[in-house]
Amino acid sequence: MKKITIAIDGYSSCGKSTMAKDLAREIGYIYIDSGAMYRAVTLYSLQKGFFTEKGIETEALKAAMPDIHISFRLNPETQRPMTFLNGTNVEEAIRSMEVSSHVSPIAALGFVRKALVKQQQEMGKAKGIVMDGRDIGTVVFPDAELKIFVTASAAIRAQRRYDELKSKGQEASYEKILENVEERDRIDQTREVSPLRQADDAILLDNSHMSIAEQKQWLTEKFQAAING
Ligand code: C5P
Repeated sequence: MKKITIAIDGYSSCGKSTMAKDLAREIGYIYIDSGAMYRAVTLYSLQKGFFTEKGIETEALKAAMPDIHISFRLNPETQRPMTFLNGTNVEEAIRSMEVSSHVSPIAALGFVRKALVKQQQEMGKAKGIVMDGRDIGTVVFPDAELKIFVTASAAIRAQRRYDELKSKGQEASYEKILENVEERDRIDQTREVSPLRQADDAILLDNSHMSIAEQKQWLTEKFQAAING
């Protein structure tokens, strides 16, 4: 069967990764979480002290880019992908509130985007890939055969994120999360380089009132239509 490229973009915490991951597993495609790559660069920058009162030390980060190696490996028990930064498993560390509240300014840096987009395009060369992010259908894979743009209200997204953190036993404040979700939306949509926007040929999915099972069904139908089309 022919393999295609699937781009899933949308707002923060709207369940893109869950749907993308499930679909990839079901159809035997590679799954890449491009947000994890921006998060890994952010974690690295935090570790190196590149965030200062005056802003981000962009020159230091630019010089360090060749030393930042990001890779993904499957967790053999859960079959879930884990993110590695220079050989260390950072899957949990990159999901912290600290990283979430520093990632958008890092993702707005042109040289960071250029380096990561290049790696993402390499990963997708052979097709058979599901990638989620903000600019996958517009910049990384503009020729993807299936493009989905996911959205949900900010309040619902914050609630989902809150429930997720709580279920992992982590401290969380709904107000802080909502603030973070709205702030990330604002930065992602207004940045100069590759702002978050729906590709003209993307299919819109508002999943505010959909269950995971309903979303899965919806996505499977779109996939079937794309490979038959
Ligand atoms: O998807 P996730 O919320 O983990 O992404 C973290 C952040 O990385 C986003 O808020 C956004 O600023 C940035 N990002 C991006 N382009 C992508 C993926 C993520 O700018 N393709």
